[in-house]
Amino acid sequence: MTTDKGLAGQQDTSLNMPGQEESAYDMALQQFDEAAEVLGLNQGVAEYLRRPQRELTVNFPVRMDSGDIRMFTGYRVQHNLARGPAKGGIRYHPRVSLDEVRALAMWMTWKCAVSNIPYGGAKGGVSFDPKPMSQNELERLTRRYASDISVLIGPERDIPAPDVNTNPQVMAWIMDTYSMHLGYSVPGVVTGKPVEIGGSLGRLDATGRGCMIVAAKELARKGKSLDGATVAVQGLGNVGYNAARLLEAQGCRIIAVTDSSGGCYLDPGAAPALDIEKLRAWKAKGMPLVECPGVDGITNDELLAMPCDILVLAALEGQITPKNAAAVRAVTIVEGANGPITPGADAILEDMGVQVVPDILANAGGVVASYFEWVQGLQHDFWERQEVEQRLEKVMSRAFEQVVAMAQEKRITMRKAALLLGISRVVKAIELRGIYP
Ligand code: NAD
Repeated sequence: MTTDKGLAGQQDTSLNMPGQEESAYDMALQQFDEAAEVLGLNQGVAEYLRRPQRELTVNFPVRMDSGDIRMFTGYRVQHNLARGPAKGGIRYHPRVSLDEVRALAMWMTWKCAVSNIPYGGAKGGVSFDPKPMSQNELERLTRRYASDISVLIGPERDIPAPDVNTNPQVMAWIMDTYSMHLGYSVPGVVTGKPVEIGGSLGRLDATGRGCMIVAAKELARKGKSLDGATVAVQGLGNVGYNAARLLEAQGCRIIAVTDSSGGCYLDPGAAPALDIEKLRAWKAKGMPLVECPGVDGITNDELLAMPCDILVLAALEGQITPKNAAAVRAVTIVEGANGPITPGADAILEDMGVQVVPDILANAGGVVASYFEWVQGLQHDFWERQEVEQRLEKVMSRAFEQVVAMAQEKRITMRKAALLLGISRVVKAIELRGIYP
């Protein structure tokens, strides 16, 4: 293993292929088609929204530390721009494909619309395993990818942000590369960048914070509180770690966590809860969670079947499928990840009475705080952390209440309600703008 780790604290991101039954894009299209039918969408508009507006594939060389030249393939997809500039993260993972990026871009369109921030949806990614790469190799890869997608990105056009295996340092390299091309600093070309170069306080943990906010609101709806609630978390990266930490701060008992190599568990009868900071520090040393002293090891399958009040899914797509859905024992699932439950599994969970707070609502905290970062950048302003957190709470709460109101009115799941809300807002923008020319 290289000691000069490029992405500190994210060393054991998955090389496992999750048990996906269908591609993420199939899932996104199936969800869209069902919502389009309920909305009675005009067939032409539905066809328009099924397809990404722009797709860019880039094949590019990177000089490795050994002196060898290696080719990489990356993508940037803009799904729809009716509500504003394109917005969406950049993922580094061996499983990245054009279809996966298309799905993630489509979900970004609906997510921005559900939280009512003025963006369209986009996503990017490079298909490779960042684990064995040095910091220098990652920097050269990032700069070359940024250079190749610079024909699409820009502060008024398409604004990338971190996603799986990318972080503020990667955003800093993208911002610098774009700025070097133009000859002046353009901080607004990315969000999720370090605070020292124009990032926003409160952005780093915003997705996890949003998960905590919706979890609290969902429990409150049932007359319960987070205090004493038992929580299992899949994925201990940016989203999973911050969700766990913030839920713990609200009095939740974290009873199980996993990452790509498995995880650990504490019998709630035997000990109060897992120590998230200790686990995070263990993981940051490159150690597998399953080997952390003083805890019992579990597999991802066992985590997904853990009896708990809240299951936070914060890893990758396709984790709960028709094959394992019936084993779920959680009362509520919060989708920190994008697309972790397939449509087939969704139907099973609905029959079982498991409440799912869907991705396009639950993990919107990141893009909402990214919007705040972008607004601060455009205004050359800098907000206090408390202001960012208060505004985030307000936007997340409003979106949650609107989704719940729609779900109750139409007697549908929160996922269907969120999709109806998001898609109908995009359709309204298309109607108002008209079809060019
Ligand atoms: P990350 O790279 O920081 O962490 C991913 C984590 O998932 C790692 O701990 C990794 O070990 C774990 N993992 C991977 N495969 C797994 C598996 N099969 N089982 C269990 N754990 C597994 O990534 P992140 O930024 O936290 O993103 C996680 C998810 O949240 C993704 O779906 C991403 O699209 C979504 N998301 C992220 C943000 C953000 O702001 N970073 C915003 C919205 C949504």
